Amino acid sequence: MRIDLHTHSSVSDGTDSPAELLATARAAGLDVVALTDHDTTAGWADAAAARPPGLTVVPGMELSCRWFPTDQPPISVHLLGYLFDPLHPAFAAERARLRDERLARAERIVEALAADGHPVDWADIVAHSGGGVVGRPHIAGALVRGGAVASVEEAFTTLLHHRSPYYATKADTDVRQGIALVRAAGGVPVFAHGLATKRGRVVGDDAVAAMAEAGLLGLEVDHPDHSEQERSHLRGLADDLGLVVTGSSDYHGSNKTTPIGACTTDPAEFERLLAAGTGTAVLRD
Ligand code: AMP
Ligand code: ZN
Ligand code: FE
Ligand code: FE
Repeated sequence: MRIDLHTHSSVSDGTDSPAELLATARAAGLDVVALTDHDTTAGWADAAAARPPGLTVVPGMELSCRWFPTDQPPISVHLLGYLFDPLHPAFAAERARLRDERLARAERIVEALAADGHPVDWADIVAHSGGGVVGRPHIAGALVRGGAVASVEEAFTTLLHHRSPYYATKADTDVRQGIALVRAAGGVPVFAHGLATKRGRVVGDDAVAAMAEAGLLGLEVDHPDHSEQERSHLRGLADDLGLVVTGSSDYHGSNKTTPIGACTTDPAEFERLLAAGTGTAVLRD
């Protein structure tokens, strides 16, 4: 059994449509794949309609959140949610707020870049996005098309870096509220790439313990952005706190070089996750 629990389609900032993503998953020999677009469930219906026989699909999403330490600025954290009820009103409203927030923030970044003569145009970027969930990868794509940078990767290390003068933050959800909303909707909250120091500041063990206290059920341990040390530290934390251990690729199609299935989840851990989700059904034969 090969299980990948974190992927993005063109409904957010990946490049495969949900149907293409499932075909890619099957061709890569996966048995289970979760669709976890940023802040939206808009790909779920297409994924359900296009699911190839034999492939199990876990409906999910990745919520943009923040942890508020007492002694430093907020830290960006991502929360994966699986098998929640997409119609739960408070949770649906929060995802809608985050998508609005993303649009306003991306437009701020684009206006600042354009004002300095960089080849980006807001209407063009919106037209190239799947609609609703505009992220830095979409702006990176415009910078590549305009010849300002050679690759999406280069855009992220230069103009779109979180320390670039063009960078703008967004008012992401307090992670404890995010966890509560996923749980209220019958879902399974899992802390995504929690120690990926290559992405910026990361939270301490105190934060992970507080998240567990707030209802967190799992930790994404095997992720392409985690070093071996980061993985073993997280594995220890999951063990101490009784959390499910997951592994996944965070596939983004051609917006990243990581292939689907690059990291995977142990089947016994997947069964624990499945047993905890009551908001919507897993899609399988
Ligand atoms: P945003 O949510 O708009 O702040 O953009 C962050 C998104 O860009 C996340 O989904 C990341 O997975 C993705 N990302 C981060 N770094 C890179 C990179 N170097 N190349 C491509 N995508 C990236
Ligand atoms: Zn992404
Ligand atoms: Fe993420
Ligand atoms: Fe992701």
